[in-house]
Amino acid sequence: DMKTIYFVTPTYPRPQQVPELTRLAHTLMHVPRIHWIVADDQPTCSDQVSTILKRSGLPYTHISSPKPYIYKYANFPRGVANRRAALNWLLDNVSEGVLYFGDDDNTVDLQLFEEIRHTKRVSMFPVGLIGGYGVSSPIVKNGKIVGFFDSWPASRTFPVDMAGFAVNIEILNPSATMPFIAGHEEDKFLVSLGVKLEDIEPLAENCSKVLVWHTRTEKFKKPTLKINIDKLDNLPK
Ligand code: UDP
Ligand code: MN
Repeated sequence: DMKTIYFVTPTYPRPQQVPELTRLAHTLMHVPRIHWIVADDQPTCSDQVSTILKRSGLPYTHISSPKPYIYKYANFPRGVANRRAALNWLLDNVSEGVLYFGDDDNTVDLQLFEEIRHTKRVSMFPVGLIGGYGVSSPIVKNGKIVGFFDSWPASRTFPVDMAGFAVNIEILNPSATMPFIAGHEEDKFLVSLGVKLEDIEPLAENCSKVLVWHTRTEKFKKPTLKINIDKLDNLPK
């Protein structure tokens, strides 16, 4: 039987939100057995996000999960309150399937979904467009992960990007959590799950292929025209 993939997307309002989520929805619409959990960094679920979710036809859960007020400074941990809310929802509602964290601005090859679907405990694979090396990847020797190639090791046990691993939901447990520490969310989450290097399944042809990219959209400069861009919401319902 085919496992369901729970694709967890933290998102927040800005001019690029609708285009990013539209593009991502159009990728996920090609994936069988996927459940999209969109965790909205807002005090209530936004209408523009719900409209995209409804129109996608995908099974989804829309969670309101604003960041705590103390994290509204520069260089705060991005998307943590929302990923935590999604983890709590999964713990309460789901007992089998595969969890994958997919940010709203990433780019995913459809091949990756078919590979992560078979994750037994934790699987890992390269992520393109990361840091100074341009790629972050596990290092594989004789089919086993023996180390990591990442431009910012920062004394992390698992120096990987959020998009670089998938987890079988059967190993999630209430003590698994993601900290509010910028740059250490992935590592501390994997350590809190009790992951051991020897348990990790390398995907993407022994980590020799890039099937997901940490794409980033250019910052949007406010138009000089004197209009209120928030009033330009003319999405079809
Ligand atoms: N994010 C969020 N609230 C914020 C900032 C970011 O929910 O205040 C989400 C964002 O939509 C994305 C993820 O957290 O899905 C990572 O943020 P971003 O892409 O800005 O970080 P980067 O990939 O550049 O590190
Ligand atoms: Mn991003």
